[in-house]
Amino acid sequence: MALIDFRSCTEAELADYLAGLGQPQFRANQLFRWLQSGVGDFEEMTNLPKGLRGQMRRDGYLAGAEIVKRQTSRLDETVKYVFRLRDGALIESVKMQYKHGTTLCISTQVGCNMRCSFCASGLNGKARDLSASEMLAQIFAAQKDSGQRISGVVLMGMGEPLDNLDNTVRFLQLVSNEQGLNIGLRHISVSTCGVVPGILKLAEYKFPITLSVSLHAPEDALRSRLMPVNQKWGLKELLEACKAYQAATTRRISFEYAMIRNVNDSDACARMLASCLKGILSHVNLIPANPVVEHKFVRSDNARVKAFAARLEALGINATIRRTLGADIDASCGQLRRRIEAERGNCDANLQ
Ligand code: SAH
Repeated sequence: MALIDFRSCTEAELADYLAGLGQPQFRANQLFRWLQSGVGDFEEMTNLPKGLRGQMRRDGYLAGAEIVKRQTSRLDETVKYVFRLRDGALIESVKMQYKHGTTLCISTQVGCNMRCSFCASGLNGKARDLSASEMLAQIFAAQKDSGQRISGVVLMGMGEPLDNLDNTVRFLQLVSNEQGLNIGLRHISVSTCGVVPGILKLAEYKFPITLSVSLHAPEDALRSRLMPVNQKWGLKELLEACKAYQAATTRRISFEYAMIRNVNDSDACARMLASCLKGILSHVNLIPANPVVEHKFVRSDNARVKAFAARLEALGINATIRRTLGADIDASCGQLRRRIEAERGNCDANLQ
């Protein structure tokens, strides 16, 4: 029988498991609270009988994330973590300090299948999906290491959350549980490259999260070149899905736009982008593209980014220029993990 991933379980699922062992019903809540407090060992669950703790150790495990590397930015307070999971896979998280709190950017997969042309995460494809518990474990580990409470989460690390929808939904339900980390869904963003069926499915849950869509190009030919996912679900379909998502959730949608010099940063692109977003309550985040050694592209300079933002504003589109945090610590998607694996000479070892 497969081992039980206890930390991914809902209280109801734990109740079923415990009932099977003939345990009284109230134990389910005790166990759920322990699991969602980030406890690292069954022996710490001191109000559960010793026999039960032993049984659980035989039946399953507590997912954790072990810090392999921590890099702190000298430019700001950004911290990048590389974590090792139970099977040795490496993933990354980034902790960012804002005036209103501390946000953790977490990974949702080991690697990524989406192969965006500017991104480091997908260079070797996807090794596997993360479980909900492995998403939670990144938060527990960062909190323990920093002594800070994580008050916001963005699913913008390695991986495509909507290519791992069931675990992502389970994570959202657990992380916002009042008896657990209790991070409000309004403080959580889920970022997608445009997996249309996933957007439509996520809409059904009506979570008050922020959906963040990585657009990066305002027309199909360019977008298909930059983001292969666009060959499957083109812009029209994607924007229709965004409208349906908005109708279902009444939430404003964020659109990410990484600015690449002479590729997607012209005034004509700004005009096309504005017409794409007509009729959608939106917010555009402009990000000067982060250089990735394996890819040949150059970020737009600050003057171009500002001019592009001004053009959008003039066309009635809400836009902000994203501050780049942690630029000195490989803080963008997949970069640090890649560096570590390359140093070890096993860049592909975890991706078989
Ligand atoms: N797969 C999801 C979430 C992870 S990527 C998605 O595509 O949205 C998080 C964000 O970082 C996305 O907007 C992605 O397009 C962007 N990104 C990846 N590499 C980048 C780079 N080199 N420079 C700027 N943004 C990048």
